[in-house]
Amino acid sequence: MSPRANHPTPTGQTGHALNRHRVVIIGSGFGGLFAARALARADADVVLIARTTHHLFQPLLYQVATGILSEGEVAPSTREVLAGQANATVLLGEVRRIDLAARTVTSHLDGHDTVTAYDSLIVAAGTGQSYFGNDHFAEFAPGMKSIDDALELRGRIFGAFERAELATDPAEIRRLLTFVVVGAGPTGVEMAGQIAELSRRTLRHDFRRIDPTAARVILLDAVEEVLPTFGDQLGTKARRRLERIGVELQLGATVVGMDARGVEIRDGDGTRRRIETACPIWAAGVSASPLGRMLAEQSGAELDRAGRVAVGQDLTLPGHPEVFVVGDLIASAVYDPPLPGVAQVAIQSGRHAARTIRARLAAQVEPGPFRYRDKGSMATISRFSAVASVGPVRLSGVFGWVLWLGVHLVYLIGFKNRVTTLLHWMVSFLGRGRAERTVTDQQVRARNVLRHHHHDHPDPLRAAAPPGL
Ligand SMILES: Cc1cc2nc3c(=O)[nH]c(=O)nc-3n(C[C@H](O)[C@H](O)[C@H](O)COP(=O)(O)OP(=O)(O)OC[C@H]3O[C@@H](n4cnc5c(N)ncnc54)[C@H](O)[C@@H]3O)c2cc1C
Repeated sequence: MSPRANHPTPTGQTGHALNRHRVVIIGSGFGGLFAARALARADADVVLIARTTHHLFQPLLYQVATGILSEGEVAPSTREVLAGQANATVLLGEVRRIDLAARTVTSHLDGHDTVTAYDSLIVAAGTGQSYFGNDHFAEFAPGMKSIDDALELRGRIFGAFERAELATDPAEIRRLLTFVVVGAGPTGVEMAGQIAELSRRTLRHDFRRIDPTAARVILLDAVEEVLPTFGDQLGTKARRRLERIGVELQLGATVVGMDARGVEIRDGDGTRRRIETACPIWAAGVSASPLGRMLAEQSGAELDRAGRVAVGQDLTLPGHPEVFVVGDLIASAVYDPPLPGVAQVAIQSGRHAARTIRARLAAQVEPGPFRYRDKGSMATISRFSAVASVGPVRLSGVFGWVLWLGVHLVYLIGFKNRVTTLLHWMVSFLGRGRAERTVTDQQVRARNVLRHHHHDHPDPLRAAAPPGL
């Protein structure tokens, strides 16, 4: 019996023509969403399955965490984005199984499994946070991968100032007003820069007992460079600018321990020390979605150290031309030059997979190998200051910042979001306010409460799923 007959498509698809080509996309990030949109005019039914109801503009998460933007501005509803695309169906669920032989994807929501059959599959499940084998750090230092992370961080950052206002012991006030950002890549640099601006500009007149401008913002990294992928010149400029706005750089410093009251550091010369802090933030390291391992086990594809999949030059799995891996889940080293883990790679690879499927359906020549067009990279440091590297051009300061502003507005999804984001940026960058300072108990506590709940009440299906899911 054919796998298709075994696994009827979900009810949402029943209105579609029989035998029409079925494309399943896993993930609603840059790779998944841009692939779905690129299939709008294809003669195919497209089912996008993701574990969140939203697309996520990860590059602006740090602005949600520091009160500049609301979560809705960086995370529009995927269903709304694709509402006008008649051939697209959106399903909520966590994909726990991909069966390459049966050509099915099994997703899970609220105790129910949904099996969706495909003719072509695009896996755009991205990466998660890696604590380099120290998973217990997660309890104390949230990462920066999701809306939950950003809102928890917002609660922790603003909450630290509130608790300091109540504290009486000077050492405890110092601890509460010490922020430690781990990882001096773009995310860490942007996060540290924004906490410094928050304490020195936004909050400077808001408290009566403490001086928020005295907050210590420490940016540390095991390597000796800031923004290593941007090259020496821009790295040095970023470093100077960070120091000017009050960020303390500690490079060559590795985090070797963490508890509720601080972090343990090993410096380059081997000495150990401790920083007392109530707010460590993890902006280092990625590990691939466990779906990568599942694909590798069934196809023989290799994985890199972070668990990303070595696909062919056309982005397909070995022996499975119908299965594409796009975005952050691609093992970048198989490409020359290696692909960076950035939004443009996800967008372009998602579109490339869609183009290949469209060509096959129209019996046209396939586009062949994926060629990444590098559109450059950029990172903001503070208001009116960013570094940008576009081809041979290096921009910094206000020019870099204007470019950063324009590019981010263009790639934000939805007109409404662009307008409100621009307004919020005016509030924060021209004025000194932060429009999104709401913090709730749920935001701050829910992640760890849920972790402990799952530990005490294991979900049998989750337990049956492959490790890591
Ligand atoms: C904080 C931060 C800042 C960044 N800043 C920049 C920047 O300034 N510029 C830049 O170019 N890039 C930046 N990046 C990188 C960029 O965001 C990623 O390269 C890009 O998001 C990758 O897209 P993707 O579609 O491959 O994965 P993602 O965007 O991570 O999307 C993965 C999708 O898969 C879904 N998913 C995962 N597993 C499952 C499952 N089992 N079942 C169902 N759904 C699943 C997720 O919910 C999500 O929808 C940043 C990343 C982060 C985290």
